[in-house]
Amino acid sequence: MANSPLDIVLLGAPGSGKGTQAERIAPAFDLSHISTGEILRGSVKAGTELGAAAKRFMDAGDLVPDEIVIGIIRERLTEPDTIAGFMLDGFPRTLFQAAALDEMLAGAGRALTLVLLIDVPDEELVQRLAGRRACRSCGRGYNVVFDAPKVEGVCDVCGGELFQRDDDNETTVRNRLQVYARQTAPLTGYYRDQGILSTVFGGGRNPDQVFADVEKVLASAKRLDDGQRP
Ligand code: AMP
Repeated sequence: MANSPLDIVLLGAPGSGKGTQAERIAPAFDLSHISTGEILRGSVKAGTELGAAAKRFMDAGDLVPDEIVIGIIRERLTEPDTIAGFMLDGFPRTLFQAAALDEMLAGAGRALTLVLLIDVPDEELVQRLAGRRACRSCGRGYNVVFDAPKVEGVCDVCGGELFQRDDDNETTVRNRLQVYARQTAPLTGYYRDQGILSTVFGGGRNPDQVFADVEKVLASAKRLDDGQRP
């Protein structure tokens, strides 16, 4: 029996640990990790036209217009590394993007296997986001409250300098959480109706504990999927 690709979406509020879990899931399940936030930050850093168009939305904690991010994903999903399975992290974020994704995949004879929601209570999200730091050199993520580096401001892995993302300041964080509640949270209903939503509780738990649950959900989705398709 041929292995069918595992095509998944990771859903969760800013600060839910989505990115941290994505870094573990991708190698464990051999999936191409596609993060629209990372792609957009890369474009801002490279000073491209796309980056210039996206920056003011990102700095305010607002969503970049649908047509921009849909265009990014449409192009990215044509790359060969996505054929064996992908994991979308940070996309879709609106019902319009979700419908566009369904259409894109149907056009390619594919469909999402699973949407995994990492559920964390709101009060914990604010605390987590304010403490978030990342290494400038290797990108390793930290949290000064929950996952502090051994030496303040210095990466344990490579000795690089730790920094706070521009959009992790308190005003932007509050807006990002409101935007999530208003525009992205309705996606849980959309995917529940499709029968492909699974939820893992991420509140008050460390990344290893959350990943143990995530792994179980994904392993069983993969088995089911392999069994269903010839
Ligand atoms: P993230 O790293 O996923 O938190 O994304 C950082 C920022 O990039 C968001 O606050 C948005 O401004 C923008 N962004 C990323 N993905 C999307 C998306 N699917 N739709 C609209 N804006 C996005």
